[in-house]
Amino acid sequence: MQIVYFPHPALRFKSTEVKRIDANLRAVVRGMFELMYEANGIGLAANQIGLPLRVFTMNLAARPDEADQEFVFINPQITSRKGAEVGEEGCLSLPKLYADVRRPEAVVIEAFDLDGQLFEMDLDELPARVVQHELDHLDGIMFTDKVLDSQRKDVEPVLAVFDRTFAEAQQAGEYPANAEIEQQLKAIASSGSVPDEFLTQSLTTPPVTIPAALLRARSSDGAD
Ligand code: ZN
Repeated sequence: MQIVYFPHPALRFKSTEVKRIDANLRAVVRGMFELMYEANGIGLAANQIGLPLRVFTMNLAARPDEADQEFVFINPQITSRKGAEVGEEGCLSLPKLYADVRRPEAVVIEAFDLDGQLFEMDLDELPARVVQHELDHLDGIMFTDKVLDSQRKDVEPVLAVFDRTFAEAQQAGEYPANAEIEQQLKAIASSGSVPDEFLTQSLTTPPVTIPAALLRARSSDGAD
């Protein structure tokens, strides 16, 4: 597992809902926390490791020794938004680029945890910003899409460098062509579960199946 950088096609892929919380998913989530800590990040979406499923991790302390600050959001949905605030954001898929984004200041988010339990969090300030940034990832949206107009001219040349770097890596054979990556993403997305190659460790906790009725109710909500 590794973090993919802009403009990897996984970052523009609208992720699909997780259908089954199983040992593979738990292993991937553990790996996501490890990658996040290595990169000093506070949030990481699954498509940032090339996995097009609706999952993200968060630890505002950014430290593995503060595991009580670890949160996993599976099939998350924002059910309420309030206010507006401009704040600086960065992204592990766009290292060293920071820019200001205006977002609702407070949100209510609901999601499933790794035990398949639905939970709700009432967040404001930094945690509200983090969950909105991560949820955007799951829809294929980068924070740079929402950067303030006044900073767009500073951001665009940096994105052009990332574009060039990725194209060169593809030419050098470090990544497949976009069409091939997209085909892989579609295959994983249609299964709604984690393929074995994402496994980093074996776990024995039994799988949890999310009731189909809940999935239907949530996907028709359309709050976004
Ligand atoms: Zn990000």
